[in-house]
Amino acid sequence: MIHYKSKDEIEKMHKAGIIVAKTLAMLTDMIMPGMTTGQLDERAAELIGKLKGRCAFNGYRGFPKNICTSINEEIVHGIPGTRRLKEADIISIDTGVELDGFYGDAAITVGVGEISPEAKRLLDVTKGALYKGIAMATVNNRLSDISCAVQEEAELNAFSVVREFVGHGIGSDLHEDPQIPNFGQPHMGPALKPGMVLAIEPMINIGTYKVDILKDGWTAVTADRKLSAHFEHTVAITEDGPRILTEL
Ligand code: MG
Repeated sequence: MIHYKSKDEIEKMHKAGIIVAKTLAMLTDMIMPGMTTGQLDERAAELIGKLKGRCAFNGYRGFPKNICTSINEEIVHGIPGTRRLKEADIISIDTGVELDGFYGDAAITVGVGEISPEAKRLLDVTKGALYKGIAMATVNNRLSDISCAVQEEAELNAFSVVREFVGHGIGSDLHEDPQIPNFGQPHMGPALKPGMVLAIEPMINIGTYKVDILKDGWTAVTADRKLSAHFEHTVAITEDGPRILTEL
């Protein structure tokens, strides 16, 4: 069931979303070769706590940390720890915050130092696909118009979209209906209406869209171990168009 949010509730989600955005901005500035993903996780928890938010990922279905850190062929749900970032890695950071009963959720992928032209193109196309999807998040469209726009952008650039993980509704729960695939035919699924809030999150791969899960039970990697990128925003559908709640 889709929960439609009031204007007040969307304002609360924006406050949670701002904490997410500030956290991702801080981590982006910190990233450099030699640091560990565990250090990023600690700094995220410190800032989220200082801003009075709650780390929504910590303990979610047993997830042990505050952010997901997914490096290179890792798609999503990598667990921060002792792994050190190297020059030319790409790292996706995904985090969620709960504040006053409402959630924000966003992800970015950034390069560590100098990255290859192919990696740079993957990051640009994935971020571009997110914004193409967001542009379709308007009241006269249906849900799969978002999905279709993301897929088109990826495939026009000869990349593939992950099927096994999808975007989602968000509100007083981190994951709500509807699911938002990053692929599909246009103009299917529920009509987009004011008050819907969606976490739109393309995961785009250089090679195959197929996925393996590592032995830790969490980390999803590309089946061919080629690079993957991930960008996400929490977006409210309004009469005036899409409103990004996780942007500074
Ligand atoms: Mg999400």
